Amino acid sequence: MIPVNSVLQVGQFPEVMQTAIDQRITPVRYPDLSSNIPPGSYESILIRSNTQLPVELLEKLPLLKMVATCGVGYDNLPLDYLKAKGIKASNTPGVLNDAVCELAVGMLFGLLRRIPQAHEFVKSAAWSKGLFTVTTTLAGKCVGIAGMGRIGQDLAKRLEAFKVKIAYTGPSRKEVPYEYFPDIRSLAKASDVLFLACPATPETEKMVNAEVLSALDSKGYLINIARGSVVDEAALLVALQQNIIAGAALDVFENEPNPNIGFLNLDNVLLTPHIGSATSETRQLMTNLAIDNLEAFYNKKSLLTEVKN
Ligand code: NAP
Repeated sequence: MIPVNSVLQVGQFPEVMQTAIDQRITPVRYPDLSSNIPPGSYESILIRSNTQLPVELLEKLPLLKMVATCGVGYDNLPLDYLKAKGIKASNTPGVLNDAVCELAVGMLFGLLRRIPQAHEFVKSAAWSKGLFTVTTTLAGKCVGIAGMGRIGQDLAKRLEAFKVKIAYTGPSRKEVPYEYFPDIRSLAKASDVLFLACPATPETEKMVNAEVLSALDSKGYLINIARGSVVDEAALLVALQQNIIAGAALDVFENEPNPNIGFLNLDNVLLTPHIGSATSETRQLMTNLAIDNLEAFYNKKSLLTEVKN
């Protein structure tokens, strides 16, 4: 049983998530972090992974013992502070794999077959004046995945159906039937399409830099479904402008929701507004798992999906 008004719900939540929350708990909502915290004694926070949790807020909540974030990525949480204060944290791994992989596959074909441009071609009646450009087949190509974790492995299984070779990199080899490369540069060199499915960490920051993009080469495509910080965006812009790579599909950006405007004027990009998990089914599953974790905390049980740091 979660006590009424004991959970502080921080940041904006889409309606489908709010409905799922309101069916199970009665939090105090704090949507705008620049306003004053509503008065109350909060033991836990419910937040989304797209909202940075400021330490200044935590310092004003002396009773806080638990943070449940809706999302698998937890780079929005100040983990060092939470650890130092003995505050537990949970995330929502696994339940969003299907939605993220479905978007990833959609971005892959949207990019290679130029589906957004083809759609615009028909809508603008340009078709009556000429032929649409020929594009690129996926079959027979090598798809690299940086981050062969839950999402990376689910994505690879889906890609097998498309007659591609699959390769990957990451800190450790996995029990998977795909070729392992020890670093991102050698993976990029071997890949026609490079997916990013790793977490945002100090080690992955700007991991895809000018050198990696050159290795991917002028026929290679980059697809980022991980986090904006994994890519050196300045280097990516140059690579796209100068056709050092063939194109990029980006669901995540360094500066959300205001991505670098340089991307907006390019024809060899496909851009989506961080919607990897944004289906109503998945958002309900994420919300329910976050609340299951809160319930476990209040019932003094082990968290279902604890962030260990
Ligand atoms: P996961 O199961 O923890 O998998 C992450 C994988 O990345 C692990 O296999 C890990 O390898 C690997 N990795 C760590 N550091 C790496 C590096 N330097 N280079 C290459 N690989 C590295 O996490 P997940 O559930 O698959 O989620 C992955 C990420 O996707 C999340 O952290 C989140 O940022 C992102 N995501 C985005 C969206 C979206 O809306 N676009 C939605 C959900 C998730 P080891 O196992 O060897 O440590």
